[in-house]
Amino acid sequence: NKQVILKDHIHGPPKESDLEVRISSVLPKAPPGSKAVLVKNIYLSVDPYQAILMQKIEDHPDISCFVPGKPLKGYGVAEVIDSDHPDYKPGDLVWGITGWEEYSLITEGFSDTRPLQRLLHIVDTDVPLSYYTGLLGIPGLTAYAGLFEVCSPKEGERVYVSAAAGAVGQLVGQFAKLSGCYVVGSAGSNEKVEMLKDKLGFDDAINYKEEKDLTAALKRCFPQGIDIYFDNVGGKTLEAALNNMKMKGRVVLCGMISTYHDQTIGVNNLVMAIFNRVRIEGFAVLDFCEQHPKYLDFVLPLVRGGKVRYIEDMVEGLENAPAALVGLFSGRNLGKQVLKIA
Ligand code: NDP
Repeated sequence: NKQVILKDHIHGPPKESDLEVRISSVLPKAPPGSKAVLVKNIYLSVDPYQAILMQKIEDHPDISCFVPGKPLKGYGVAEVIDSDHPDYKPGDLVWGITGWEEYSLITEGFSDTRPLQRLLHIVDTDVPLSYYTGLLGIPGLTAYAGLFEVCSPKEGERVYVSAAAGAVGQLVGQFAKLSGCYVVGSAGSNEKVEMLKDKLGFDDAINYKEEKDLTAALKRCFPQGIDIYFDNVGGKTLEAALNNMKMKGRVVLCGMISTYHDQTIGVNNLVMAIFNRVRIEGFAVLDFCEQHPKYLDFVLPLVRGGKVRYIEDMVEGLENAPAALVGLFSGRNLGKQVLKIA
C-alpha cells in the first residue's frame, strides 16, 4: 500500500521533503464486526488547507492537524473493495474523507450527523468522477455558498475574484457571470489569464505578477469600483481590493493563501472599509455543508448543458503528490489540482 506520509509538523511553507512516499507491506482489512470499509482510492483532492494541517495548531475546534508518521488525509473518490458496513458493498463508488494512499480503511465518520463528513455514494456517474474532488465537491460548494450566501450578487454588479484560475475561483467567476455580473479575475500567469477570458467567460483578467501596482490595475478594471470581492489570497491583494471597493461593497474572506505561512503579512488599509462602509465577512464552507444537495441540483444541469466548465490539472501517481501540494503555493496548478492514483 503506497502512502504519502507527513514526516514531521512543519513551520513555514510546505516543502516536498516534508512528505515521504512509502510502501507499507500491510494491506488494511475490514475485520468482522468493525463496521469498517476498505476503499481503493481513485482520485485525491489536493487542497491548500492540507498544508495548513501539516503544521501543529492546538486548541482549535475545527482543526485536526495531520499526525507525523501517518498518511495525509483529504477528500477523494474511491471504490469500495471490502466492507463490514451494511450501507456499503464492494464495487460501490464513493467520495469523502480518505487517506493519501492506494487503499484506505475507513473506520470513522459513519454516524457523524454533519453532512459531508461521511463516505457518500456517488449517484451521478455521467460526469467525470474526478469532479467530486472539485466542481461537485468542497471547492464547488465553497464557490457557491461563498458567492450566493455571503455576497448575494445582483445583475450588473462588478465582481473581482482572486486566485481565479484555481479550484474555487474559476467557479466563482462563472457563477457570477450566470448572475449577470461583470467579472474580473486575477491569476499568476498569462496562460491562466487567457484561460479565464477565452475558456471560462470572464469579462477581463489580470496577471497580478506582472502588475507593479495592483491598486492601479484594479482601478483600470473597475473604474466605477468593485461591488463584490471574493478573496482567495489575502495580504496585498486584499489591500488593493479594499482601495477599490464601492460604497457598501461586500468582501467575502474565503482564503488567504498568500499569508498562510507568514501571519505577519497584514492588511494596512482596513480603514478603507470604514470609509466605504464595506461589509467584510469570514467564510468557512464547513458551515454550509447541508447545502450540498441543493448545490448539486443547481450545478449538475449547468454542467450537463455546457453552461459551466471545469478545468482540472490532473497529476498521476502518489509519487507526484508532494510536488502537487507544494505547487499550489507557487501557482503551478492550472485549474483544480487533482491526483489520479488508480
Ligand atoms: P487553487 O486551486 O486556487 O490553488 C491555489 C492558487 O493560489 C494557486 O494556483 C496560485 O495561483 C494562488 N496563489 C498561491 N500563492 C499565492 C500568493 N502568494 N499570492 C497570490 N496567489 C497565490 O486553490 P483552491 O481554489 O482550492 O483554494 C482557493 C482559496 O480558497 C485558498 O486560499 C483556500 O485555502 C481557500 N479555501 C477556503 C475554504 C473555506 O471554507 N473558507 C474552502 C476551500 C478553499 P496563481 O497562479 O494565481 O498565483
